[in-house]
Amino acid sequence: MAAIQTLGELRRSGYRSRPVKQEIRDNLVCKLRAGEALFPGIIGYDETVIPQLVNAVLSRHNFILLGLRGQAKSRILRGLADLLDDRIPVVPGCEIHDDPTAPLCAACRARVAREADDLPVAWLTRDARYVEKLATPDVTIADMVGDIDPIKAAQAGLNLSDELTMHYGLLPRANRGIFAINELPDLAGKIQVGLFNILQEGDVQIKGYPIRLRLDVLLVFTANPEDYTARGKIITPLKDRIGSEIRTHYPVTRHNALAITRQEAWTERSGSLQVEIPPYVREVVEEVAFQARADRKIDKRSGVSQRLPITTLELVVSNAERRALAGGEAIAVPRVTDLYAALPSITGKFELEYEGELRGAEQVARDLIRSAVGTVFTGVFDGVDTRTVVEWFDLGGTLPLGDTTPADDLIAKTKGVQGLRELADGAGLPPGAPAPLVAAAIDFVLEGLYAQKKISRSEERGYSAAESAQRRPARREEQALDEEIRIPGSKKKYYN
Ligand SMILES: [Zn+2]
Repeated sequence: MAAIQTLGELRRSGYRSRPVKQEIRDNLVCKLRAGEALFPGIIGYDETVIPQLVNAVLSRHNFILLGLRGQAKSRILRGLADLLDDRIPVVPGCEIHDDPTAPLCAACRARVAREADDLPVAWLTRDARYVEKLATPDVTIADMVGDIDPIKAAQAGLNLSDELTMHYGLLPRANRGIFAINELPDLAGKIQVGLFNILQEGDVQIKGYPIRLRLDVLLVFTANPEDYTARGKIITPLKDRIGSEIRTHYPVTRHNALAITRQEAWTERSGSLQVEIPPYVREVVEEVAFQARADRKIDKRSGVSQRLPITTLELVVSNAERRALAGGEAIAVPRVTDLYAALPSITGKFELEYEGELRGAEQVARDLIRSAVGTVFTGVFDGVDTRTVVEWFDLGGTLPLGDTTPADDLIAKTKGVQGLRELADGAGLPPGAPAPLVAAAIDFVLEGLYAQKKISRSEERGYSAAESAQRRPARREEQALDEEIRIPGSKKKYYN
C-alpha cells in the first residue's frame, strides 16, 4: 500500500477508507481474534477497565475515563493509537489530513477536481494521528476548533465566511484520528458546546460565521471525579454524547502495584555503579502508598497517585548511590532508612485532611514510612524471636547510625549486637552476600524493631532502648532524651 503514490493507483488498488471508529474497531477485532495482548504496559486492569474499554471501542463510542490522579488514564488513551492502521493515505499538505478519495476541505476538493488521478498521495503514520490536549480554563474556541484569519481572507480576496480563510485548531487537525482531552471539566462551558456541535452537527460557529466541518474523530476524555463537583462540570448535552464512562482505580493488589513501580521507576542506571534493590525495600516503598490511600489524615477524594511509589523508589536508589559513591563502594544497595531521604517525593503527592494539617505533611509522611516498615517487617519476620537483639538495647546499648554510614562501618558497629546478624539473614540474604546487601538487611531489622516500638531511634543517638510504655509512648524521641538527661540514673525498663 505504501508504494502507492497517486490517487489513480490508490483507486485501482481497491482502497476504501473507513471512519476512524470503524478502523479502530476492525483492528481491535483482529487483535481479539488473534488473542493478542491489549494495552501493553497497563497492569492490573485486565478484569476491570480493559473489558469496558474493549466494549466501548467495539461499540464505536466516544468515551471518558474517570479516575483519580496517577491511574494511568492518559497512558491508556495513548495506547489507543496502537489500534490505528499503520498508515493511511492523505492529500499531501492538507492540514486536516484529508482523505484523497473523499476530501473535506475546499482546497483539497479543488485539487482533486483539477489533478484527478494524478493527484499525489502521502501516507500518514499512526503516531501523527493522535492529538492530546490538557484542558485548562483559558483554552479558547480558537485553540480547539480554529479561527478566521482575516489576513488570509484579504490576500485571497475571499469572504470571511469562506472556509478557506480558516486557521484550524487542534480538533480539525486531529481529523481521521484520535483527539484526547485530559481533565475535560476544566474546559469552559462554551468550548464544550463547540465540541458538542461538532460531534452532533458537524458544524461550528466562529466569530458568528457558521463553518461546516464534518470531521471524523474518535473523541476520548479523562476527568477526575472530584472535579465534576469541585472545579467545573461537563455540560449535559456533551455528557450525553459520550457513549461510555469508564472508571479507573489504583492497583488492587500489592503484586500489581510492585509490577507497575518496577516498570515505571528509573532504577536501571548507567554508570560504573551496580544497583541492587532488596525486595523488602520495594515492598516498603509500595506499602507507603497503600497506607497513604487508607490514612484518614489524607484526603481520599484527591487520591494518592501511583507516581508516589515510583518517584520514592527513584530517590531511594539515588540516596543509596550517593552513599556508595561517598564510601567508594562498587554496589549501591538501598536501605529502608533511605525512604526518609525520599520525603520530598512523598509529601507533595497527597492533600491533607484537617487532622493531617495539624500534624504537618512531613510528620504524616514519616509516620507512613514507619508504619509501612512495620507491616513489611511483620510479614517477613512473622513469629521470629527478636528478644536477644532488643535486650542488647535494653541493657543500654546504642547504635549511632545514619543513612550515610558505609556498609562496612555499619556491619562493624553492629557486630557486638547478639542475634542481629542472624535476624538479618532471615531477610533473605544469599550466602556470601556483599557488604552493602548485609548492611541493608541489618538496617531493615533495626527499622523494623523501631517500627514495632521495641527499640527507639533519634537523630542524636541513633538506635537505643525503647521508651517504656509508662513514660508517654507518644512523645517524640528528642523530648525523651532531654528528660533522661535531666533525670540522671533513671533505669531503662524492659519492653516486652
Ligand atoms: Zn484538505
